[in-house]
Amino acid sequence: MALAVRLRIGHDRRVDRTARLALAVDRQGGRCLWCGRRFGPLIPPTTEHLVPRLKGGPSIAANEAAACPRCNADRGHTGPVDWLAQCRSRHGWAPQASLLATLLNALDVELDNVGGHRRAKRYLSGQLRRCRSGQ
Ligand SMILES: [Zn+2]
Repeated sequence: MALAVRLRIGHDRRVDRTARLALAVDRQGGRCLWCGRRFGPLIPPTTEHLVPRLKGGPSIAANEAAACPRCNADRGHTGPVDWLAQCRSRHGWAPQASLLATLLNALDVELDNVGGHRRAKRYLSGQLRRCRSGQ
């Protein structure tokens, strides 16, 4: 519930990008969503889109997560579920998998609320199916 409230606040146009990034960092426990490293002066958080812009992902708070610069650059346009799998298998990291599932579900609800974004919705439902099937 707290997450939903935060996401809604984050969607408010008056909340600027910096504040939205701070909210994302907070809901991720101060760690990169993908590699789990703690953010700090040497590892500054960057804004990452759950559904890539290339797949129609909108710039709204619910589509944003905080990632370290390394993960942000390495992931590129890779889908969140594929990237999560790569974090584990290729890099041996411990990504926040259950949080990713929570964020993707919250984004799905938010896209319904906002309306439109059909391409992102379609892409997201594929990602959610794969989340549920444990991939
Ligand atoms: Zn990272």
